[in-house]
Amino acid sequence: MLGTLAKWLRLLGYDTHFDSALDDHALARLARAEGRVLLTRDRALAARRGLQSLFVQEEDLEAQIAQMVQTLGLSPGLEPRCAVCNGELAIVPKAAVQSLVPPYVYQTQSEFRRCVACGRVYWRGTHWPYIAAKLAQWGQGDEPDDAGDIQA
Ligand SMILES: [Zn+2]
Repeated sequence: MLGTLAKWLRLLGYDTHFDSALDDHALARLARAEGRVLLTRDRALAARRGLQSLFVQEEDLEAQIAQMVQTLGLSPGLEPRCAVCNGELAIVPKAAVQSLVPPYVYQTQSEFRRCVACGRVYWRGTHWPYIAAKLAQWGQGDEPDDAGDIQA
């Protein structure tokens, strides 16, 4: 399953469709119709003709992202997208999310974003600096200025 990778690709700002309910035929059709690169752990699917695809060799998330960096030229600095629904995130005033985030998060964070599609609230969290540091470590540029974890 590539669900965790999909979540991180969205947080890194990449428009990422993920649907574990689709079969191979539907995945291939969607990738062709929308001009997407199909990421799969299925060698046969990745080898289908007429598809832009990438066989994801690694099982470990960090190694998967490293593969994306090397083969797709992944880079930080894009506007993050909603990890859950792939929607765009809008910067919202802190006061607007007071009732939506845990008190500790409200007290300790200053910048919040909200998904325009599903309404989830994001803030700069503990996982993001880790991944951003990894991307920087791989020589892919500066740390993005803002992103966050999913609301619990
Ligand atoms: Zn969303």
